[in-house]
Amino acid sequence: MTLTDPLSILQDHYGYDAFRGAQAEIIDHVIGGGDAFVLMPTGSGKSLCYQIPAMCRPGVAIIVSPLIALMQDQIAALAQMNVKAAAINSSMSNAEIAATRQQVRAGALDMLYVSPERLLMPEFLGFLDQCKLGLFAIDEAHCVSQWGHDFRPDYAGLSLLAERFPEVPRIALTATADAPTRKDIVERLGLTQGRTFVSGFDRPNIHYKITLRQSPQQQVWKFIQDKHPTDSGIIYCLSRAKVEEMAAWLREKGVDARPYHAGLPPEMRAENQRHFLQGENVIIVATIAFGMGIDKPDVRFVVHMNIPKNIEAYYQETGRAGRDGLPSNAYMVYGMADAAMQRQWIDGSDAPVEQKRIQHQKLGALLGLCETATCRRQVLLNYFDDSCEPCGNCDTCDQAPETFDASIAAQKAISCAYRTGQRFGVSYLIEVLLGTDNDRIEKFGHAQISTYGIGKEFSKAEWQNIFRQLVASNLLTPDAENYGGLQITAKGRAFLKEKPVLSMRRAVKPAASKRSGRGPARPASVLTAPGDQALYEALRSARGDLARSQNVPAYVIVHDKTLVELALHKPTSRTKMLEIGGIGEAKLERYGKPFLEAIVQHCEALHDQTD
Ligand code: ADP
Ligand code: ZN
Repeated sequence: MTLTDPLSILQDHYGYDAFRGAQAEIIDHVIGGGDAFVLMPTGSGKSLCYQIPAMCRPGVAIIVSPLIALMQDQIAALAQMNVKAAAINSSMSNAEIAATRQQVRAGALDMLYVSPERLLMPEFLGFLDQCKLGLFAIDEAHCVSQWGHDFRPDYAGLSLLAERFPEVPRIALTATADAPTRKDIVERLGLTQGRTFVSGFDRPNIHYKITLRQSPQQQVWKFIQDKHPTDSGIIYCLSRAKVEEMAAWLREKGVDARPYHAGLPPEMRAENQRHFLQGENVIIVATIAFGMGIDKPDVRFVVHMNIPKNIEAYYQETGRAGRDGLPSNAYMVYGMADAAMQRQWIDGSDAPVEQKRIQHQKLGALLGLCETATCRRQVLLNYFDDSCEPCGNCDTCDQAPETFDASIAAQKAISCAYRTGQRFGVSYLIEVLLGTDNDRIEKFGHAQISTYGIGKEFSKAEWQNIFRQLVASNLLTPDAENYGGLQITAKGRAFLKEKPVLSMRRAVKPAASKRSGRGPARPASVLTAPGDQALYEALRSARGDLARSQNVPAYVIVHDKTLVELALHKPTSRTKMLEIGGIGEAKLERYGKPFLEAIVQHCEALHDQTD
């Protein structure tokens, strides 16, 4: 059967009724031979935007993808839908590579996945010259740009595609790029003549919560217990040592947690990643080395135990939760020490001054997000030039943070930095404000200055809260040259002069870590009718058997969302089964029977009970 109509492909291969958002427009444009730059949030269906043109256009589509694991995943999923795709990569033997090349030359494949390194090998480019090419798709395209947050030199080399294969259309896709990064990608990949498709950035199914770090392990443990006792998730830590420590700590608690960082032997890394991808209740504790291109749709939560580098990184990392559109959580605990560490990294790198300046700005925006008293989603979307109403699905919307008029406090704090020469850190400044009597203050003669002891209305913790927000709103900034001594910024000087009203979040008392109102974000929580949850579990277990027998991740069989629909509608005929999202002809053939059996068994059991 050859299908060239995009909609029939969507329905018959993927099992979905209709295109979403700009998908149809993008697909038409690319099938017609146009170049495209696509910026859509994770989980919105970018893959289809190149996979369907790949099937419709004559010739093979070359898909540039950064990770072997990601390629294998996509190919496994495509194979389930009877789509002809393969990869060429370093994990394959020469014989396997030769066989795949032969298939490509013979026109037997719709898609070939390769890494940028492979693609750019002169020998491989020579091979492509002999093939009929339908399309180049560049996934994770932000890696092309130095302004992006994950620049990869190999990706930059992709600019040669435009010159070398001018007649082959190119589509570049990413989920995160701010305005300068977008422009850079379009220029580097020669897409200026093509079209740019930017869709809303919102990930409405993700709940955001950002809170101060107090006892991080306990905080995270409570979060998991409350919200995700039986789900898969990712926990990000800053260092390898912390990764190991947290993973071990969770394992002691009986959790199936695995570490992932660049210091592990490659086999162990691969094994832990495989275990996570295939498992349904596995937590991976990782440094940021983990996650690029992780396509697991049922990651239900992402935890940050430290702040990431910037908002793009945060959005991309948290974006790995809930790709299937079901309710998911992003939870971060942070402290001011994180910011100091990130600053050190920026200053210590050998990036050009201009790039360091940009990185500092980006870090500042992230701190602003952490300290905001308004809707987190609004701050996130504004950052990407998008907007929304207060979302009702983040911690600041759930419970508006208490604020107070901090105008006078801020003046005192900034003056204190000024009077002490802008070279001391937070702890010392607080000691001065509180009028502490100690040797250091004695030595510097700071008991005699006008700000000594003028801050006794606040506790130490309250002052820490105030200083944090002064730094987050860029009124004060730690000086890297001077051991983090707080300096007054231009904005801070203007503040002292004009004395505007300044509102701040009140300090959270350690004891007040009360439960947030919502219950666990479980996929099956939409199943409220009696017995439906049990049917969901039965279907899930049938899927588990199928996945194990084929040695593929469970979601490659069908997504959680499909299980939820099956449990809800209980289709008992082939036609009804085809109406379920995610079940097309191929999957019906393969899995219709076991799912049908589970449903029938369940309905009979219910019937028996009511007899
Ligand atoms: P992205 O690459 O943008 O993160 P994917 O391409 O992985 O997103 O798609 C996310 C999920 O949405 C997948 O499960 C995919 O099958 C599903 N999906 C994509 N397009 C549609 C559609 N038109 N209707 C229903 N589901 C879709
Ligand atoms: Zn909100």
